[in-house]
Amino acid sequence: MSDNQAAASEAVQAFFKRATGSFINGDFRAEGNSRDIIDPSSGEPLATIAEGNKELTDEAVALTKASFDDRRWRDLSPAARERTLLRFADLVEQHGEELAQIETLNQGKSIHIARAVDVGFSVDFIRYMAGWTTKLEGSTREVSIGMPEGTRFNAYTLRQPLGVVAAIVPWNFPMMIALWKVVPALAAGCSVVLKPASETPLSVLRLAEIAVEAGLPKGVFNVVLGSGSVVGTRLAEHPDVQKVTFTGSTAIGKQIGHAAVEHMAHFSLELGGKNPMLVLEDADLEKAVNGALMGGLLNQGQVCAAASRFYVHRSLHDEFCQRLAGAVDGMQAGPGMDPQAQVTPLVSQRQQQSVLAYVERARDQGAEVHVGAEVPSQGYYVSPVVISNAAHTMEIAREEVFGPVLTVIPFDDVEEALAMVNDSELGLAASLWTDSLAQAMHLTPRIEAGTVWVNTHVTLDASLPFGGFKMSGLGKEFGPEAVNAYTELKSVCIAY
Ligand code: NAD
Ligand code: MN
Repeated sequence: MSDNQAAASEAVQAFFKRATGSFINGDFRAEGNSRDIIDPSSGEPLATIAEGNKELTDEAVALTKASFDDRRWRDLSPAARERTLLRFADLVEQHGEELAQIETLNQGKSIHIARAVDVGFSVDFIRYMAGWTTKLEGSTREVSIGMPEGTRFNAYTLRQPLGVVAAIVPWNFPMMIALWKVVPALAAGCSVVLKPASETPLSVLRLAEIAVEAGLPKGVFNVVLGSGSVVGTRLAEHPDVQKVTFTGSTAIGKQIGHAAVEHMAHFSLELGGKNPMLVLEDADLEKAVNGALMGGLLNQGQVCAAASRFYVHRSLHDEFCQRLAGAVDGMQAGPGMDPQAQVTPLVSQRQQQSVLAYVERARDQGAEVHVGAEVPSQGYYVSPVVISNAAHTMEIAREEVFGPVLTVIPFDDVEEALAMVNDSELGLAASLWTDSLAQAMHLTPRIEAGTVWVNTHVTLDASLPFGGFKMSGLGKEFGPEAVNAYTELKSVCIAY
């Protein structure tokens, strides 16, 4: 056992032994091919789980459907469902340290991020969504139907839960992104089957246990483990799934959309970003640098909304890059459980190799590459990288790297910079840094992204819709938009 792992609480150690496989109808399912779940700071196994296959996926969907069909959850009063979800939030909060440690050990991230974001944001998010349970609404409509003569009408719309929801989530915020899907679906009255990424199944298994403890009827929220190609594909194509909600890569998102349309399931896709930060000449440099470090290096850049290409006015460019370089040089590397560590490992060797290869290719293309703090050779670390004087046409400035790489591109003219900001297939998020209210008002509507921040980056809130433009996806998470997206709208027309 690594030191990192030994730092975990007894509750966490006990859970790693108990979590043997998929969690279906309230039970762990240990049958099937086993897989070691890895601590990315050491490469050592944390737990061994059984992966599901097509048969287990079908069983999980059937049991999720049974829970919807017998109405054990959706027919509870809205107030009763709200209370259950609020109890769920309370229990996630009470078990917050345990969940944060599980996330840190399995995903690699800093324990501070796990506590503040993965757990802290999630608790607020669950409570926010719980409130919508009692606030879903349709509307009455003034119809003008004239026949049969003398007949009067009352017409209205009714919001009803869609049915079985399949949620497929990635490995960067395994529990938090799962909750972004599971909780609004439950608030709407749906039943959910969730597939985590193969690398990071542990925290959502603990969540599923906690949901049962909170009083969510068994079978309403099931977790099926396994590969994307077997379990993920089956969930997306399953005829009894009414909605597929996915976060991950654009390539897989497209496949999921096609599979869903085959059986007219609803789908929502939260895909990647190559998110720009646009720093105008009048920006507060200090704030912009801090914003770049936070927006670009949070979770080692493994964030779909991370800032990764920085268009900085030429008059600020050199100092901006120097300050970033100074900051990354001074960072301390170590496993996520080490409270001093700022540079923590990436999720997997595959992701580490992918990020390092992007940096190597940028170097080959002549980019000015500055590598920050030294990192341990064992574990999947990548030292943060600042690339200065980059060209907008370079691969490193165009493709989603999903790692701690900040690529800075100087510009002279705002219109030229705006054209570069919008010259991307992706459009998840962007930030604008300026002290000019007029520039902010002028530019925000013209930036092609689902979220535009001004003088801040990667600050999310449960109330504010989040979702991409262009190839970054379809549909919105957060806000009432998210809950409504798990409902079907029925029109009722009554003659009397
Ligand atoms: P991915 O899209 O392959 O995986 C995301 C989820 O989809 C996982 O649960 C995976 O098991 C599942 N999946 C994989 N193939 C599937 C299929 N054919 N059908 C159904 N489900 C399937 O992402 P990845 O390979 O883990 O990461 C690759 C890249 O994706 C990253 O480098 C990054 O650029 C991007 N990414 C984006 C986000 C985001 O938050 N938008 C998160 C993770 C990764
Ligand atoms: Mn739709």
